[in-house]
Amino acid sequence: MARIAIGGFSHETNCFVPMRTNYAYYEAGGEMPPLARREEVIERASGSTFGMSGFLDTVNPSHELVPLIWGQGGAGGYITDDCFERIVGELVGMLSQVMPVDAVYLDLHGAMCSLSYEDAEGELLRRVRACVGPLIPVVISLDYHANITEEMCRLTDGMAVYLTYPHIDRQGTGSRAALIMHRVLAEGIPAGRAIRRLPFLLPLNFQCTLVEPSKGIVEASVAGEGGDILNLCYAAGFPPSDLHECGPAVVCHAYSQAVADEIADRLSAMVLEQEANFSEPLMQPDEAVLEAMRIAETATKPVVLADTQDNPGCGGTCDTTGLLEALVRHDAQRVAMCVMWDADAAALAHEAGEGAEITFELGGKHGPDGVVPFHGTFTVTALSDGCFVTTGRSIGGRHIDIGLTALLTIGGVSIVTASKRMQAYDQDIFRHIGVAPEKQKILALKSTCHFRADFDPIAEKNLVVLALGAHLVDSTEYAFQNLREGVRLLPNGPSFTHGV
Ligand SMILES: [Zn+2]
Repeated sequence: MARIAIGGFSHETNCFVPMRTNYAYYEAGGEMPPLARREEVIERASGSTFGMSGFLDTVNPSHELVPLIWGQGGAGGYITDDCFERIVGELVGMLSQVMPVDAVYLDLHGAMCSLSYEDAEGELLRRVRACVGPLIPVVISLDYHANITEEMCRLTDGMAVYLTYPHIDRQGTGSRAALIMHRVLAEGIPAGRAIRRLPFLLPLNFQCTLVEPSKGIVEASVAGEGGDILNLCYAAGFPPSDLHECGPAVVCHAYSQAVADEIADRLSAMVLEQEANFSEPLMQPDEAVLEAMRIAETATKPVVLADTQDNPGCGGTCDTTGLLEALVRHDAQRVAMCVMWDADAAALAHEAGEGAEITFELGGKHGPDGVVPFHGTFTVTALSDGCFVTTGRSIGGRHIDIGLTALLTIGGVSIVTASKRMQAYDQDIFRHIGVAPEKQKILALKSTCHFRADFDPIAEKNLVVLALGAHLVDSTEYAFQNLREGVRLLPNGPSFTHGV
């Protein structure tokens, strides 16, 4: 029996949006559970779809678990220093109070940047390591979009990374972390660890594991585990994080350094060979709307327009209006859109009541430059308190609270307008306010790839739209400050240089 401290702190940081992510965001929760401490960690994570949920399911019940603090975030702008210091300070403070422990499990993301630490998880792990010393195993789970750094590799004794995008194996990853923990507790800390960074950035749109080449890469990573190899991980990276070590990487923990090096070399060579094959068609808003309308004339299922550049899961503001403008301009019919973040509009709609007509400016209030509000007269078609439970494959079982929510209709377009940001992960966002997504001609979703887990079964076709937004698909457009010199900004694309 071992005494295992468990906790977590996650965020996916888009360093190029003006918003900052503060402590209040973690306290409030929303599409994620609010910041949890001690027994609350187990209560909120159990039976849900987080790394922590899977770890709790799988860890040997004879072990004593000592929950610390667990803060789950989505994506957004830089973590403030206040937020980082309060949550990490509390995590490490609690850990030092409960010492001695035999092991530590942390549910992290891997793409967190705070204003003071570009590799925020590396800093968190450095402090955890300083607290427990070199001999206590530290095992972590990470998101597929992690920008895995040397520090994350060096300071851990085991690692599990999601194998799917859309992420349908968050729990499975936590379960794998628990199995890694069992092995480390039984056989000792692995002597070898290796990280190999790929020399290019990979836009999120090219990372989907439902298709090649990403499908084959994650399969090869799992197939490579066993024997002396404790874990072989591939993470595709998160280009909007501005750090030296941004981008895809391979990590291996093994019971010999030679094996770790050899296996990491082999998998990273496989990824490099595939560089030219990472791609996906991308369309401008007018072109995409007209194509969707054309397909919808004869289709039996809705066409999905993925408003990828405003995906809040990549740090988008969730309130851009470019796709909405194109849909209204072309008079598209039977269109449902989600989620538009506009707390003022949702409040106004609740004040006016169902059936009312209101004229105002919707969304477009949080940038980036060039995004403007959509001015129009909307009918308040339906209202909700924004509380519901998700049932989709990616984030099933989550208690969501996106605040006062309204369905606003203009022409043939109905927009789920909420008081908090949320990625269009799940059909329940529509259903909870009375919209049957399968009965629409077109679904406009602020998402990049996650929507596919729940919407692919009801969709005729997916089209990816490049409306103006803060998640730039083309990473050559990001004004990187910290990125390493020479990395290619796209597969086979131009190399990054700081200039003169
Ligand atoms: Zn992710």
